[in-house]
Amino acid sequence: MTLRNTPPTAELQALDAAHHMHPFTANTALGKKGARIITHAEGVRLTDSDGAELIDGMAGLWCVNIGYGRHELAEAAARQMRELPYYNTFFQTTHVPALQLAAKLAELAPGDLNHVFFAGSGSEANDTNIRMVRQYWALKGQPERRTIIARHNGYHGSTMGGGSLGGMAGMHAQGGLPIPGIVHIDQPYWYGEGGDMTPADFGLARARQLEEKIIELGAENVAAFIAEPVQGAGGVIIPPETYWPEIQRIVDKYGILLIADEVITGFGRTGYWFGSQSYGIRPHIMTIAKGLSSGYQPIGGSIICDEVAQTIGQDEFNHGYTYSGHPVAAAVALENLRILQEEDIIDRVRTHTAPHLAQAWGSLADHPLVGEAVSRGMMASLALTPDKASRARFAADAGTVGYICREYSFGNNLVMRHVGDRMIIAPPLVISAADIDELVIRARKTLDQTLDHLHREGLF
Ligand code: PMP
Repeated sequence: MTLRNTPPTAELQALDAAHHMHPFTANTALGKKGARIITHAEGVRLTDSDGAELIDGMAGLWCVNIGYGRHELAEAAARQMRELPYYNTFFQTTHVPALQLAAKLAELAPGDLNHVFFAGSGSEANDTNIRMVRQYWALKGQPERRTIIARHNGYHGSTMGGGSLGGMAGMHAQGGLPIPGIVHIDQPYWYGEGGDMTPADFGLARARQLEEKIIELGAENVAAFIAEPVQGAGGVIIPPETYWPEIQRIVDKYGILLIADEVITGFGRTGYWFGSQSYGIRPHIMTIAKGLSSGYQPIGGSIICDEVAQTIGQDEFNHGYTYSGHPVAAAVALENLRILQEEDIIDRVRTHTAPHLAQAWGSLADHPLVGEAVSRGMMASLALTPDKASRARFAADAGTVGYICREYSFGNNLVMRHVGDRMIIAPPLVISAADIDELVIRARKTLDQTLDHLHREGLF
Protein backbone atom coordinates (compact mmCIF):
# COMPACT_ATOMS: atom_id res chain seq x y z
CA MET A 1 0.00 0.00 0.00
CA THR A 2 1.30 3.48 -0.83
CA LEU A 3 1.85 5.90 1.98
CA ARG A 4 -0.63 8.71 2.08
CA ASN A 5 0.67 12.21 1.79
CA THR A 6 1.02 13.11 5.46
CA PRO A 7 3.20 15.85 6.94
CA PRO A 8 6.39 14.78 8.74
CA THR A 9 5.88 12.85 11.97
CA ALA A 10 7.52 15.47 14.19
CA GLU A 11 5.19 18.16 12.88
CA LEU A 12 2.11 16.04 13.55
CA GLN A 13 3.36 15.11 17.02
CA ALA A 14 3.88 18.77 17.89
CA LEU A 15 0.29 19.60 16.90
CA ASP A 16 -0.98 16.61 18.84
CA ALA A 17 0.99 17.62 21.94
CA ALA A 18 -0.21 21.22 21.72
CA HIS A 19 -3.92 20.59 21.22
CA HIS A 20 -5.07 17.02 21.63
CA MET A 21 -5.87 15.59 25.06
CA HIS A 22 -5.67 11.79 24.94
CA PRO A 23 -7.98 9.59 27.01
CA PHE A 24 -6.45 7.66 29.95
CA THR A 25 -3.10 9.39 29.35
CA ALA A 26 -0.69 11.63 31.28
CA ASN A 27 -0.73 14.16 28.49
CA THR A 28 2.27 16.28 29.50
CA ALA A 29 4.56 13.25 29.53
CA LEU A 30 3.14 11.97 26.26
CA GLY A 31 3.61 15.40 24.70
CA LYS A 32 7.33 15.28 25.50
CA LYS A 33 7.72 11.78 24.11
CA GLY A 34 5.43 12.16 21.08
CA ALA A 35 2.49 9.86 20.29
CA ARG A 36 2.86 7.17 17.65
CA ILE A 37 0.72 8.22 14.71
CA ILE A 38 -1.24 5.48 12.99
CA THR A 39 -2.05 6.42 9.42
CA HIS A 40 -3.66 3.35 7.90
CA ALA A 41 -4.41 -0.32 8.41
CA GLU A 42 -5.20 -3.51 6.56
CA GLY A 43 -6.25 -6.88 7.98
CA VAL A 44 -4.47 -7.17 11.34
CA ARG A 45 -1.68 -4.71 10.54
CA LEU A 46 -1.36 -1.02 11.30
CA THR A 47 1.04 1.36 9.56
CA ASP A 48 2.47 4.41 11.32
CA SER A 49 3.56 7.77 9.94
CA ASP A 50 7.14 6.52 9.57
CA GLY A 51 5.99 3.56 7.51
CA ALA A 52 6.54 0.94 10.25
CA GLU A 53 4.07 -1.94 10.28
CA LEU A 54 2.66 -3.25 13.55
CA ILE A 55 0.58 -6.33 14.36
CA ASP A 56 -2.50 -5.02 16.15
CA GLY A 57 -2.75 -7.50 18.99
CA MET A 58 -5.59 -5.46 20.52
CA ALA A 59 -7.95 -5.07 17.51
CA GLY A 60 -7.88 -1.35 18.20
CA LEU A 61 -9.60 -1.26 21.58
CA TRP A 62 -10.96 -4.84 21.42
CA CYS A 63 -13.28 -3.83 18.63
CA VAL A 64 -12.02 -4.42 15.09
CA ASN A 65 -13.37 -7.98 15.03
CA ILE A 66 -13.47 -8.38 11.24
CA GLY A 67 -10.09 -6.68 10.75
CA TYR A 68 -9.21 -3.44 8.98
CA GLY A 69 -9.81 -2.50 5.38
CA ARG A 70 -13.23 -4.03 4.69
CA HIS A 71 -14.48 -1.72 1.97
CA GLU A 72 -17.98 -3.15 2.15
CA LEU A 73 -18.43 -1.20 5.38
CA ALA A 74 -17.18 2.01 3.78
CA GLU A 75 -19.64 1.48 0.96
CA ALA A 76 -22.51 0.79 3.36
CA ALA A 77 -21.70 4.06 5.13
CA ALA A 78 -21.49 6.06 1.91
CA ARG A 79 -24.75 4.58 0.62
CA GLN A 80 -26.57 5.41 3.84
CA MET A 81 -25.10 8.92 3.98
CA ARG A 82 -26.42 9.65 0.53
CA GLU A 83 -29.85 8.24 1.29
CA LEU A 84 -30.51 9.43 4.86
CA PRO A 85 -27.43 10.65 6.75
CA TYR A 86 -29.33 11.34 9.94
CA TYR A 87 -32.66 11.06 11.47
CA ASN A 88 -33.74 10.34 15.02
CA THR A 89 -36.01 7.73 16.52
CA PHE A 90 -37.64 10.01 19.10
CA PHE A 91 -41.18 11.35 18.70
CA GLN A 92 -42.84 8.40 16.98
CA THR A 93 -40.49 8.08 14.00
CA THR A 94 -38.09 5.38 12.95
CA HIS A 95 -35.84 4.56 10.02
CA VAL A 96 -34.86 1.42 8.15
CA PRO A 97 -31.27 0.84 9.40
CA ALA A 98 -32.22 1.13 13.09
CA LEU A 99 -35.23 -1.17 12.85
CA GLN A 100 -33.38 -3.70 10.73
CA LEU A 101 -30.42 -3.74 13.09
CA ALA A 102 -32.69 -4.17 16.11
CA ALA A 103 -34.43 -7.09 14.40
CA LYS A 104 -31.10 -8.66 13.44
CA LEU A 105 -29.80 -8.38 17.00
CA ALA A 106 -32.99 -9.95 18.34
CA GLU A 107 -32.41 -12.87 15.96
CA LEU A 108 -28.77 -13.31 17.03
CA ALA A 109 -29.22 -12.83 20.77
CA PRO A 110 -30.12 -15.86 22.90
CA GLY A 111 -33.43 -16.56 24.64
CA ASP A 112 -36.02 -13.80 24.74
CA LEU A 113 -33.54 -10.93 24.41
CA ASN A 114 -35.68 -9.44 21.68
CA HIS A 115 -35.54 -5.65 22.16
CA VAL A 116 -32.79 -3.13 21.53
CA PHE A 117 -32.20 0.34 22.96
CA PHE A 118 -29.41 2.04 21.02
CA ALA A 119 -26.62 4.24 22.32
CA GLY A 120 -23.45 5.71 20.88
CA SER A 121 -21.05 3.68 23.02
CA GLY A 122 -20.71 1.06 25.71
CA SER A 123 -20.55 3.68 28.46
CA GLU A 124 -23.78 5.28 27.31
CA ALA A 125 -25.46 1.90 27.08
CA ASN A 126 -24.52 1.13 30.68
CA ASP A 127 -25.90 4.50 31.76
CA THR A 128 -29.11 3.46 30.01
CA ASN A 129 -29.04 0.19 31.93
CA ILE A 130 -28.78 1.90 35.30
CA ARG A 131 -31.84 4.01 34.61
CA MET A 132 -33.72 1.18 32.93
CA VAL A 133 -33.39 -1.39 35.70
CA ARG A 134 -34.42 1.17 38.33
CA GLN A 135 -37.37 2.27 36.24
CA TYR A 136 -38.31 -1.39 35.71
CA TRP A 137 -38.57 -1.97 39.45
CA ALA A 138 -40.41 1.32 39.97
CA LEU A 139 -43.01 0.22 37.42
CA LYS A 140 -43.23 -3.15 39.20
CA GLY A 141 -44.19 -1.29 42.37
CA GLN A 142 -40.82 -1.87 44.04
CA PRO A 143 -39.08 1.51 43.70
CA GLU A 144 -36.80 0.74 46.63
CA ARG A 145 -35.02 -1.85 44.50
CA ARG A 146 -32.35 0.60 43.34
CA THR A 147 -28.95 -0.73 44.30
CA ILE A 148 -26.82 -2.26 41.59
CA ILE A 149 -24.09 -4.70 42.56
CA ALA A 150 -20.95 -4.69 40.41
CA ARG A 151 -17.37 -5.85 40.90
CA HIS A 152 -14.01 -4.43 41.89
CA ASN A 153 -11.75 -4.30 38.83
CA GLY A 154 -14.71 -4.59 36.47
CA TYR A 155 -14.89 -2.10 33.61
CA HIS A 156 -18.15 -0.65 32.34
CA GLY A 157 -17.12 2.64 30.78
CA SER A 158 -16.02 6.13 31.60
CA THR A 159 -19.19 8.19 32.08
CA MET A 160 -20.44 8.94 35.60
CA GLY A 161 -22.64 5.84 35.44
CA GLY A 162 -20.27 3.55 33.59
CA GLY A 163 -17.30 4.56 35.71
CA SER A 164 -19.36 4.01 38.86
CA LEU A 165 -20.43 0.52 37.80
CA GLY A 166 -16.80 -0.19 37.03
CA GLY A 167 -14.60 -1.06 39.96
CA MET A 168 -11.43 0.73 38.90
CA ALA A 169 -9.84 2.37 41.94
CA GLY A 170 -7.94 4.84 39.76
CA MET A 171 -11.18 6.05 38.21
CA HIS A 172 -13.08 6.24 41.50
CA ALA A 173 -10.27 8.43 42.82
CA GLN A 174 -11.08 11.17 40.31
CA GLY A 175 -14.23 13.22 39.84
CA GLY A 176 -16.47 11.94 42.60
CA LEU A 177 -17.25 8.35 41.65
CA PRO A 178 -19.04 6.13 42.34
CA ILE A 179 -22.50 7.70 42.25
CA PRO A 180 -24.88 6.53 45.04
CA GLY A 181 -26.60 3.17 44.82
CA ILE A 182 -23.76 1.15 43.34
CA VAL A 183 -21.73 -1.30 45.44
CA HIS A 184 -18.91 -3.66 44.52
CA ILE A 185 -17.97 -7.22 45.40
CA ASP A 186 -14.62 -8.93 44.74
CA GLN A 187 -13.60 -10.28 41.34
CA PRO A 188 -13.09 -13.98 40.49
CA TYR A 189 -9.34 -13.49 39.93
CA TRP A 190 -7.88 -16.76 41.12
CA TYR A 191 -4.29 -16.19 39.97
CA GLY A 192 -3.99 -12.88 41.81
CA GLU A 193 -6.27 -13.38 44.79
CA GLY A 194 -6.97 -17.09 45.14
CA GLY A 195 -4.20 -17.87 47.65
CA ASP A 196 -4.14 -21.56 48.52
CA MET A 197 -7.70 -22.28 47.37
CA THR A 198 -8.37 -24.40 44.31
CA PRO A 199 -9.71 -22.38 41.38
CA ALA A 200 -13.05 -24.23 41.70
CA ASP A 201 -13.47 -23.40 45.40
CA PHE A 202 -12.33 -19.85 44.85
CA GLY A 203 -14.81 -19.36 42.00
CA LEU A 204 -17.63 -20.49 44.29
CA ALA A 205 -16.43 -18.30 47.14
CA ARG A 206 -16.30 -15.20 44.96
CA ALA A 207 -19.74 -15.91 43.49
CA ARG A 208 -21.15 -16.35 46.99
CA GLN A 209 -20.06 -12.81 47.83
CA LEU A 210 -22.99 -11.83 45.63
CA GLU A 211 -25.37 -13.74 47.88
CA GLU A 212 -23.76 -12.26 51.00
CA LYS A 213 -24.09 -8.75 49.56
CA ILE A 214 -27.75 -9.30 48.63
CA ILE A 215 -28.52 -10.52 52.15
CA GLU A 216 -26.60 -7.60 53.68
CA LEU A 217 -28.48 -5.04 51.58
CA GLY A 218 -31.82 -6.87 51.68
CA ALA A 219 -32.96 -8.41 48.40
CA GLU A 220 -35.87 -5.96 48.39
CA ASN A 221 -33.33 -3.16 47.82
CA VAL A 222 -31.31 -4.76 45.02
CA ALA A 223 -32.10 -4.03 41.37
CA ALA A 224 -29.42 -5.88 39.45
CA PHE A 225 -25.99 -7.43 39.24
CA ILE A 226 -23.73 -6.39 36.36
CA ALA A 227 -20.57 -8.13 35.21
CA GLU A 228 -18.46 -8.88 32.16
CA PRO A 229 -18.49 -12.60 31.26
CA VAL A 230 -14.69 -12.31 31.04
CA GLN A 231 -13.15 -9.14 32.52
CA GLY A 232 -11.36 -7.36 29.71
CA ALA A 233 -9.84 -4.06 30.80
CA GLY A 234 -9.27 -5.59 34.25
CA GLY A 235 -6.59 -7.78 32.65
CA VAL A 236 -8.38 -10.57 30.75
CA ILE A 237 -9.45 -12.26 33.97
CA ILE A 238 -11.05 -15.59 33.06
CA PRO A 239 -13.28 -16.77 35.91
CA PRO A 240 -13.05 -20.32 37.24
CA GLU A 241 -15.69 -22.60 35.65
CA THR A 242 -17.62 -22.74 38.93
CA TYR A 243 -18.20 -18.99 39.03
CA TRP A 244 -20.97 -18.27 36.51
CA PRO A 245 -23.27 -21.20 37.33
CA GLU A 246 -23.24 -20.10 40.97
CA ILE A 247 -23.93 -16.47 40.01
CA GLN A 248 -26.87 -17.65 37.90
CA ARG A 249 -28.23 -19.69 40.82
CA ILE A 250 -28.04 -16.67 43.15
CA VAL A 251 -29.58 -14.25 40.66
CA ASP A 252 -32.46 -16.69 40.09
CA LYS A 253 -32.95 -17.33 43.80
CA TYR A 254 -33.28 -13.63 44.73
CA GLY A 255 -35.05 -12.56 41.56
CA ILE A 256 -32.62 -9.74 40.72
CA LEU A 257 -31.83 -8.70 37.17
CA LEU A 258 -28.62 -9.90 35.55
CA ILE A 259 -26.82 -7.53 33.19
CA ALA A 260 -24.04 -9.11 31.13
CA ASP A 261 -21.70 -6.43 29.83
CA GLU A 262 -20.84 -7.94 26.45
CA VAL A 263 -19.09 -4.86 25.09
CA ILE A 264 -15.90 -6.89 24.61
CA THR A 265 -17.22 -10.45 24.72
CA GLY A 266 -20.02 -9.86 22.20
CA PHE A 267 -19.83 -10.57 18.48
CA GLY A 268 -17.52 -13.53 18.48
CA ARG A 269 -14.71 -12.69 20.87
CA THR A 270 -15.25 -15.90 22.88
CA GLY A 271 -16.07 -18.09 19.88
CA TYR A 272 -19.82 -17.59 20.38
CA TRP A 273 -21.97 -14.66 19.34
CA PHE A 274 -22.07 -13.64 23.00
CA GLY A 275 -19.89 -14.51 25.99
CA SER A 276 -23.07 -15.35 27.93
CA GLN A 277 -23.60 -18.30 25.57
CA SER A 278 -20.08 -19.50 26.17
CA TYR A 279 -20.81 -19.63 29.93
CA GLY A 280 -24.44 -20.76 29.65
CA ILE A 281 -25.81 -17.75 31.54
CA ARG A 282 -29.17 -16.08 30.97
CA PRO A 283 -28.92 -12.30 31.32
CA HIS A 284 -31.98 -10.03 31.27
CA ILE A 285 -29.95 -7.30 29.57
CA MET A 286 -26.75 -7.42 27.53
CA THR A 287 -24.61 -4.31 26.94
CA ILE A 288 -23.14 -4.19 23.44
CA ALA A 289 -20.78 -1.90 21.49
CA LYS A 290 -17.32 -2.36 19.91
CA GLY A 291 -17.63 -5.54 17.77
CA LEU A 292 -21.20 -4.58 16.84
CA SER A 293 -19.68 -2.40 14.10
CA SER A 294 -16.14 -3.78 14.37
CA GLY A 295 -15.31 -0.24 15.47
CA TYR A 296 -15.96 1.18 12.00
CA GLN A 297 -18.67 3.44 13.47
CA PRO A 298 -19.40 4.44 17.08
CA ILE A 299 -22.47 2.50 18.18
CA GLY A 300 -23.60 0.64 21.28
CA GLY A 301 -26.78 -0.43 22.94
CA SER A 302 -28.64 -2.70 25.30
CA ILE A 303 -30.40 -5.90 24.26
CA ILE A 304 -33.33 -6.40 26.60
CA CYS A 305 -35.55 -9.36 27.45
CA ASP A 306 -39.30 -9.40 26.82
CA GLU A 307 -40.31 -8.94 30.45
CA VAL A 308 -38.15 -5.87 31.07
CA ALA A 309 -38.88 -4.29 27.68
CA GLN A 310 -42.63 -4.80 28.00
CA THR A 311 -42.66 -3.35 31.50
CA ILE A 312 -40.58 -0.32 30.50
CA GLY A 313 -42.90 0.15 27.55
CA GLN A 314 -45.91 0.75 29.82
CA ASP A 315 -44.81 4.34 30.39
CA GLU A 316 -42.67 6.95 28.66
CA PHE A 317 -39.00 6.18 29.36
CA ASN A 318 -37.46 9.62 29.59
CA HIS A 319 -34.13 8.67 28.15
CA GLY A 320 -32.32 8.69 24.80
CA TYR A 321 -29.41 10.06 22.83
CA THR A 322 -29.31 12.17 19.67
CA TYR A 323 -27.34 9.37 18.07
CA SER A 324 -29.40 6.42 19.39
CA GLY A 325 -29.58 4.11 16.37
CA HIS A 326 -27.74 6.56 14.09
CA PRO A 327 -28.59 5.45 10.55
CA VAL A 328 -25.02 5.42 9.22
CA ALA A 329 -23.71 3.55 12.26
CA ALA A 330 -26.62 1.11 12.08
CA ALA A 331 -26.08 0.48 8.36
CA VAL A 332 -22.40 -0.20 8.98
CA ALA A 333 -23.21 -2.51 11.91
CA LEU A 334 -25.64 -4.47 9.73
CA GLU A 335 -22.96 -4.94 7.09
CA ASN A 336 -20.50 -6.01 9.77
CA LEU A 337 -22.95 -8.60 11.13
CA ARG A 338 -23.54 -9.87 7.59
CA ILE A 339 -19.80 -10.42 7.16
CA LEU A 340 -19.42 -12.10 10.56
CA GLN A 341 -22.28 -14.42 9.71
CA GLU A 342 -21.75 -15.18 6.01
CA GLU A 343 -18.01 -15.71 6.38
CA ASP A 344 -18.50 -18.03 9.37
CA ILE A 345 -15.95 -16.00 11.29
CA ILE A 346 -17.30 -16.92 14.73
CA ASP A 347 -17.48 -20.66 14.00
CA ARG A 348 -13.92 -20.50 12.72
CA VAL A 349 -12.83 -18.76 15.92
CA ARG A 350 -14.39 -21.54 17.99
CA THR A 351 -13.09 -24.46 15.95
CA HIS A 352 -9.71 -23.22 14.66
CA THR A 353 -8.43 -19.76 15.51
CA ALA A 354 -9.01 -19.77 19.27
CA PRO A 355 -7.61 -23.29 19.77
CA HIS A 356 -4.52 -22.25 17.79
CA LEU A 357 -4.14 -19.09 19.89
CA ALA A 358 -4.58 -21.10 23.10
CA GLN A 359 -1.79 -23.45 22.08
CA ALA A 360 0.62 -20.81 20.73
CA TRP A 361 0.01 -18.29 23.53
CA GLY A 362 0.02 -21.07 26.13
CA SER A 363 3.56 -21.97 25.04
CA LEU A 364 4.73 -18.70 26.65
CA ALA A 365 4.04 -20.24 30.06
CA ASP A 366 7.55 -21.72 30.05
CA HIS A 367 9.14 -18.27 30.05
CA PRO A 368 10.85 -17.40 33.36
CA LEU A 369 8.80 -14.19 33.71
CA VAL A 370 5.41 -15.79 33.07
CA GLY A 371 3.23 -17.11 35.90
CA GLU A 372 0.29 -18.00 33.69
CA ALA A 373 -0.50 -17.73 29.97
CA VAL A 374 -4.26 -18.10 29.47
CA SER A 375 -6.91 -17.39 26.89
CA ARG A 376 -10.61 -17.63 26.29
CA GLY A 377 -11.62 -17.38 22.67
CA MET A 378 -9.64 -14.53 21.18
CA MET A 379 -8.70 -12.75 24.39
CA ALA A 380 -5.55 -13.75 26.21
CA SER A 381 -3.26 -12.66 29.01
CA LEU A 382 0.05 -13.31 30.71
CA ALA A 383 0.76 -12.76 34.39
CA LEU A 384 4.31 -11.48 34.87
CA THR A 385 5.91 -12.60 38.11
CA PRO A 386 9.28 -12.72 39.84
CA ASP A 387 8.43 -16.16 41.19
CA LYS A 388 6.29 -18.62 39.26
CA ALA A 389 5.73 -21.06 42.11
CA SER A 390 4.30 -18.56 44.59
CA ARG A 391 2.56 -16.32 41.99
CA ALA A 392 4.38 -13.44 43.69
CA ARG A 393 4.09 -9.78 42.74
CA PHE A 394 7.12 -7.65 41.91
CA ALA A 395 8.66 -5.49 44.61
CA ALA A 396 8.33 -2.50 42.28
CA ASP A 397 4.98 -0.69 42.15
CA ALA A 398 2.28 -2.66 40.31
CA GLY A 399 2.45 -1.86 36.63
CA THR A 400 6.14 -0.91 36.55
CA VAL A 401 7.20 -4.17 34.94
CA GLY A 402 4.10 -4.35 32.76
CA TYR A 403 4.86 -0.90 31.40
CA ILE A 404 8.46 -1.83 30.61
CA CYS A 405 7.20 -4.93 28.80
CA ARG A 406 4.65 -2.93 26.83
CA GLU A 407 7.35 -0.49 25.69
CA TYR A 408 9.47 -3.35 24.34
CA SER A 409 6.40 -4.81 22.67
CA PHE A 410 5.67 -1.53 20.90
CA GLY A 411 9.33 -1.41 19.86
CA ASN A 412 8.90 -4.88 18.36
CA ASN A 413 5.91 -3.67 16.35
CA LEU A 414 3.40 -5.62 18.38
CA VAL A 415 0.50 -3.83 20.05
CA MET A 416 0.14 -5.61 23.37
CA ARG A 417 -1.32 -3.80 26.35
CA HIS A 418 -0.46 -4.02 30.04
CA VAL A 419 -2.89 -3.94 32.95
CA GLY A 420 -0.72 -3.70 36.02
CA ASP A 421 1.75 -6.52 35.48
CA ARG A 422 -0.54 -8.55 33.20
CA MET A 423 0.06 -8.40 29.46
CA ILE A 424 -3.05 -8.74 27.34
CA ILE A 425 -4.08 -9.24 23.73
CA ALA A 426 -7.37 -9.45 21.83
CA PRO A 427 -6.50 -9.51 18.13
CA PRO A 428 -8.98 -9.24 15.26
CA LEU A 429 -11.00 -12.48 14.99
CA VAL A 430 -9.78 -12.92 11.42
CA ILE A 431 -6.11 -13.24 12.35
CA SER A 432 -4.43 -16.12 10.48
CA ALA A 433 -2.55 -18.97 12.13
CA ALA A 434 0.69 -17.62 10.63
CA ASP A 435 0.06 -14.18 12.14
CA ILE A 436 -0.76 -15.71 15.54
CA ASP A 437 2.60 -17.47 15.36
CA GLU A 438 4.33 -14.21 14.42
CA LEU A 439 2.54 -12.41 17.26
CA VAL A 440 3.76 -15.02 19.75
CA ILE A 441 7.34 -14.82 18.39
CA ARG A 442 7.27 -11.06 18.97
CA ALA A 443 5.73 -11.53 22.42
CA ARG A 444 8.50 -13.98 23.40
CA LYS A 445 11.20 -11.61 22.16
CA THR A 446 9.51 -8.87 24.19
CA LEU A 447 9.56 -11.06 27.32
CA ASP A 448 13.28 -11.83 26.78
CA GLN A 449 14.08 -8.12 26.47
CA THR A 450 11.99 -7.35 29.54
CA LEU A 451 13.79 -10.02 31.56
CA ASP A 452 17.21 -8.64 30.48
CA HIS A 453 16.06 -5.17 31.45
CA LEU A 454 14.89 -6.35 34.87
CA HIS A 455 18.22 -8.12 35.44
CA ARG A 456 20.10 -4.95 34.50
CA GLU A 457 18.01 -2.84 36.86
CA GLY A 458 18.14 -5.38 39.67
CA LEU A 459 14.35 -5.83 39.57
CA PHE A 460 14.37 -9.59 39.06
N1 PMP B 1 -18.01 -2.15 29.02
C1 PMP B 1 -16.91 -2.88 28.77
C2 PMP B 1 -16.87 -4.30 29.21
C3 PMP B 1 -15.84 -2.32 28.08
O1 PMP B 1 -14.74 -3.05 27.86
C4 PMP B 1 -15.93 -0.98 27.65
C5 PMP B 1 -14.81 -0.32 26.86
N2 PMP B 1 -13.56 -0.86 26.97
C6 PMP B 1 -17.08 -0.27 27.95
C7 PMP B 1 -18.11 -0.87 28.63
C8 PMP B 1 -17.23 1.17 27.57
O2 PMP B 1 -17.41 1.28 26.22
P1 PMP B 1 -17.13 2.68 25.48
O3 PMP B 1 -15.65 2.93 25.61
O4 PMP B 1 -17.60 2.42 24.09
O5 PMP B 1 -17.93 3.71 26.16
